Amino acid sequence: MPFQVLFRVILLGLIFTADIHADVVSSVTLIDNKKTSINLSDSMQVLLDHDKKLSIESISSAQYQHDFLSVATGNGKIGFTQAAAWVRFSLASRLQARQLLLLELDYPLMDRVVLYQPDGSGGYSQRIGGDELIFQAREVTYRNVVFPILLEPGETQTYYLRFTSKGALHLPLKLWDPLSFAEHASLSQISLGLYFGAFLLLIVTAIGGLYLLKANLFFWYALYLAFYGLLNLTLTGLGYQVLWPESPVWQSRAPSILVSCAVISALIFSSKLLDIEKYSHPFFNLFRFTIVLAIVGALLSLLGFVGFANQVSSLSGMVLVPVVMVAAVLAYQGGNSAARYFLVAWGVFLVFVFIAGLYYWGVLPHGLVTTYALQIGSVFEVTILAVALADRVLTLNKEKEHADRQAQHYLTMLNEKLGKMVEERTAELERSNRQLQALAIHDSLTMLLNHNAILDLMGVAVRTANRYRQPLCIAMMDIDHFKQINDEYGHQIGDEVLVKISETLNSSLRASDSAGRYGGEEFLLVLPHTSVESSVELVERMRKNIREIEFEALSGREITVSMGLMVYDGIRPIAPDSLLKSADFALYQAKQKGRDRVEWGKLQENNHLAPVSFQKIAHSKLHS
Ligand code: GH3
Ligand code: MG
Ligand code: MG
Repeated sequence: MPFQVLFRVILLGLIFTADIHADVVSSVTLIDNKKTSINLSDSMQVLLDHDKKLSIESISSAQYQHDFLSVATGNGKIGFTQAAAWVRFSLASRLQARQLLLLELDYPLMDRVVLYQPDGSGGYSQRIGGDELIFQAREVTYRNVVFPILLEPGETQTYYLRFTSKGALHLPLKLWDPLSFAEHASLSQISLGLYFGAFLLLIVTAIGGLYLLKANLFFWYALYLAFYGLLNLTLTGLGYQVLWPESPVWQSRAPSILVSCAVISALIFSSKLLDIEKYSHPFFNLFRFTIVLAIVGALLSLLGFVGFANQVSSLSGMVLVPVVMVAAVLAYQGGNSAARYFLVAWGVFLVFVFIAGLYYWGVLPHGLVTTYALQIGSVFEVTILAVALADRVLTLNKEKEHADRQAQHYLTMLNEKLGKMVEERTAELERSNRQLQALAIHDSLTMLLNHNAILDLMGVAVRTANRYRQPLCIAMMDIDHFKQINDEYGHQIGDEVLVKISETLNSSLRASDSAGRYGGEEFLLVLPHTSVESSVELVERMRKNIREIEFEALSGREITVSMGLMVYDGIRPIAPDSLLKSADFALYQAKQKGRDRVEWGKLQENNHLAPVSFQKIAHSKLHS
């Protein structure tokens, strides 16, 4: 993460413990070589002015000379403090000629640096540098504050510097001869250029990934890279030099705001990549908490509480690394394969932080890798993070494909099921429609055709007989003395008798014949293609069959029926009503003649009588 921030974590102990120790012997730095590159931190001494009330006159007076202390370690770290830091160092020239030296503060975020130089008449001249000035006001337009100093041959001078900053105080002071400085500066600018070039390339790649693969992760990755890159531009002083040289206000707020933005985008990117919400809810909440902390830092900075904002934002940066590393372990244990690349990325970065730490402590020598260990580490880190990202996107795509296939499968299954259901429902509907139709034309008690249905059927039969000139027989049947049955045995028994007689009717009929319930205990029979002979035979058989039915409930009592029979020869057109009337009349006659018999009908219309031959045959059949 923001490496300066991380660095502070590692050096936290150093910052807040034995930072400066007493050393009353002021050491003088000898300038005895034209090629000079001296780390002043070893020989300089520091005094913290907590009330910020001391002037150069009092500081340089004998009263304060013994209050200056040596800095214990290499780079003069003091950390976050409200105090003004006074630094004193002495230079003694052993050269024959006048020497131009460059005094560099290798920490670009210092708000204000004042260099006090003896003016030769017992006083001090002062020169100002730092972020409070616009960039162009610097004596040397370089990303770090640089003061040129002229040292006369053989001269020994004591210089004072006063530092104030809303950020942490770091005082890595270096002294260069101009040539060495030029070499050093060009090398460092090229290295930083390469570093930011690599970042820019990764950002472009991430945007390409976002455009091509449409995975949101690329967006968060690109955002993280952008903020992290901008933050490093700020921390190296290049941001002020190149991007916002006219804005000292933004320069003072940029570190905290950019740390916050980098922390927020890193957390969102990490939580999405690790899918931490799925693997650990407490950690997901910790992510949220850290994001809130970073937001607070950024807001404080925007509101102008820059000093406090720097501390809050740095705290969010400190929390970030351990939180995402543990989250990555949890996600990896939970089965997120991208988490291992994630761990490697941060692991590699921490190795470079360690290298930088060793360099910082003076264990490792000065060199390109040691000087830029943090930058190299972060390039490795973000590159490996890109691999983690690719792995995650690949997994997500696979999961999506799998889900798509499964969804397709379910859809097909569902369709089949739906089709089956529709088929079943249709069949059911058709069945109930048929049932409804059947109910509509059948009598519910006897299940014979009802009044209307049997009349319709008779109409069709009459027309068909007429068309094909075929004989048609119809018979009207009525149960004898049925009222008595009802009266003596009850209506229910009467119903049973009706049902039983209907069944007998049905079983006595041929397939082409039909019977219907014409009224209460009256029935109409329609017998197509039936000659006089066979019709007489048929109805007689029916009458006898009914009489032979044994009704248990009636204790052996016989039920008889009377019938009126009518045959249509199919030759002359005739209204079905006329046929019906004749049959009804014949039935009436059967009743008149004593019931339990069949009577032959004759057509009433035009006084037409049934053909004589019919009459004869019928008579002989009926009374044989
Ligand atoms: P007849 O020999 O002259 O035909 O005498 P009948 O008693 O059969 O004739 P009537 O017309 O006087 O009586 C018919 C009876 O049929 C009257 C009525 O209660 C009965 N009936 C009509 N429909 C039903 C029915 O659905 N169930 C029962 N149990 N009785 C019915
Ligand atoms: Mg009757
Ligand atoms: Mg009747």
